[in-house]
Amino acid sequence: MIFIVDTVAVFDIAVATLYVVVVLIAARFCRTRGVVLVGLGCAGLSIISWVIAPPAHPTTETIINECISIVSIGLVTALALLAQQTVLTLRNQANLLDLTHDPIFSRDMEGKILYWNRGAEELYGFKRAEALGAVAHTLLQTTFVTPIEQVMATLLREGRWEGELVNRTLDGTPVVVTTRWSLQRDNAGQPALILETNNDISERKRMEDALQQAQSDLARLNRVLVVGEMTASIAHEVTQPITAVVTGASVGLRWLDAQPPALGEVRQLLTRIEKDGRRASEVVSRVRRLVKKVPPRIEHWDLTEAVDEVVALTRQELLRNGVDLRNALSSDVALVMGDRVQLQQVLINLIANGIEAMTGVHDRPRELTIRAARTEPDTAMVEVRDTGTGLDPGHVDRLFQSFYTTKAEGMGMGLAISRSIIEAHGGRLEAMPNEPHGAVFRFTLPAREAGLRR
Ligand code: ADP
Repeated sequence: MIFIVDTVAVFDIAVATLYVVVVLIAARFCRTRGVVLVGLGCAGLSIISWVIAPPAHPTTETIINECISIVSIGLVTALALLAQQTVLTLRNQANLLDLTHDPIFSRDMEGKILYWNRGAEELYGFKRAEALGAVAHTLLQTTFVTPIEQVMATLLREGRWEGELVNRTLDGTPVVVTTRWSLQRDNAGQPALILETNNDISERKRMEDALQQAQSDLARLNRVLVVGEMTASIAHEVTQPITAVVTGASVGLRWLDAQPPALGEVRQLLTRIEKDGRRASEVVSRVRRLVKKVPPRIEHWDLTEAVDEVVALTRQELLRNGVDLRNALSSDVALVMGDRVQLQQVLINLIANGIEAMTGVHDRPRELTIRAARTEPDTAMVEVRDTGTGLDPGHVDRLFQSFYTTKAEGMGMGLAISRSIIEAHGGRLEAMPNEPHGAVFRFTLPAREAGLRR
């Protein structure tokens, strides 16, 4: 049609440029070779019609027109081929993105989803058709761990952001994902779209939580066992003040019956009874705090006070085992950050181990020295030193392995749990031989001056 019009038309215009439309249509439906053939064909037809039906008066203008037509056809063919290639590459990349099981999607700056791969369909349950055009965070009911304003600021500044967030699937199930966002800018440098790839870590999170729960249950069990071993001593600690209360009360009653009643003495006695009662209830609450199932509480507390409490709880056990306690708490007290009960548990473990290591010692004094001090402006140290059987310097690290024990009734978890507690608090727990006999267990903790309590 174009050929006929071009051949018979007498206008001095480049009808042949209409061939570009033919090339563009060919690019839509044909492969590379087809497009090239159509392009060559169009250029050929244009030349043929110019040759067989040249304009009435060929002028420079008509020759230029014809040249423009040929060049246009050539250029459009080349551009069409280029575009076809780009589309092909993009399609291949999109297919590749579909092959991965990780959810990948892109969205514009308003959050509208522009691309949604098969991994996203599989994880979230929304089909591509449902997702495209929807606002991503609304569709997935995203909950951010980091505030969104902060996320966007990082993304705009650095071009990427990585973090963790929680999405919900089609049926409302929450999924925890680690996510990577990448910002794409347009030719003018303006933010155009965000590419998001996610990694489902819900299962890992569940396992981590379960592991943490198991660890904390084990730690508690260990604590209960250690405290259980000391029941005789603890019972004594409670019985002593209660016996004093009972005796005091009966003496008080006798004094009240006296003529005249010895009220002054009774008052003094009541004060003592109150003190003894408090002492007994304090022991009970200390034990309860240690064996109760409570979530970790991170706060600042006074190291010396916490060590003193443990010493009070274990004093009777030390006495019962003929152990001499040397308490060397530095007056340079420190505030330690962390879970007080967990750290007291570590100390109880170390004291219990020290006592046990000395039960077989008969030829020298059984001495347990507890030292607590601030060694550096920001570090506190607690040390438990005994004169027991001692350690083999070559195998010190073995003691910290789970289930390593040399005791018939031992669980072998005390030191493993203690080390993980100290490390979780940013400190270190180490063991070394004591001179001339026994062992030293020392832990450090980040600390600061007691006066700086917030
Ligand atoms: P358990 O006390 O149940 O055996 P621990 O993890 O507390 O578990 O200790 C592991 C092992 O480390 C003990 O069995 C013992 O051999 C050794 N050990 C711990 N403390 C001392 C110590 N103060 N002196 C000598 N050996 C010790």
